[in-house]
Amino acid sequence: MASRFFVFFRNFSTVGRVAQSVRVTSRIFFSTGELIRVLPYTRSSRSICSTRAAHNEEAAAKAAASVADTGAPTIFDKIIAKEIPSDIVYEDENVLAFRDINPQAPVHVLVIPKLRDGLTTLGNAEPRHVEVLGQLLHASKIVAEKEGILDGFRVVINNGVEACQSVYHLHLHVLGGRQMKWPPG
Ligand code: 5GP
Repeated sequence: MASRFFVFFRNFSTVGRVAQSVRVTSRIFFSTGELIRVLPYTRSSRSICSTRAAHNEEAAAKAAASVADTGAPTIFDKIIAKEIPSDIVYEDENVLAFRDINPQAPVHVLVIPKLRDGLTTLGNAEPRHVEVLGQLLHASKIVAEKEGILDGFRVVINNGVEACQSVYHLHLHVLGGRQMKWPPG
């Protein structure tokens, strides 16, 4: 079952203070330098498209649910092995970062551990994973720096079906290059 938790960091300066809160849901967001705006809801063609996209996302997540925690290989194994091409933004011994095939922002990079080691979801994290989890966050910062979005970017982890996770190999979405909205869908 998908774990249900939410961690949100908002960082108002490069290495400034970090506010953290924990709530009951299952998307994990880390944002930096982001302005929150609440806009009145209007049903535009864009919102209809967003609704369609959300349905596709849900469908993909539900389809992937059958292999969720089986430890079955995923498409990311082939990307790590370079059996299928990807647009790599950053790579080191432990981490690979490559552009999402279906970008949701001008910058949309996935940051993954090269060794999954049970991390199909963040919800499966154990104390032995602390080091690689830190490496993933640090790599996200490096990606943001390389992409020129260090002043404002969002890091998302979708955890489980309810959060629309569709690939069961832990990955951080690094998003930026446009004004983000809050609350997320
Ligand atoms: P999730 O929905 O699990 O949080 O995110 C999975 C992400 O992987 C999606 O944003 C999807 O577009 C991306 N993705 C799926 N297959 C591929 C692929 O073959 N190549 C790349 N670059 N991204 C992929």
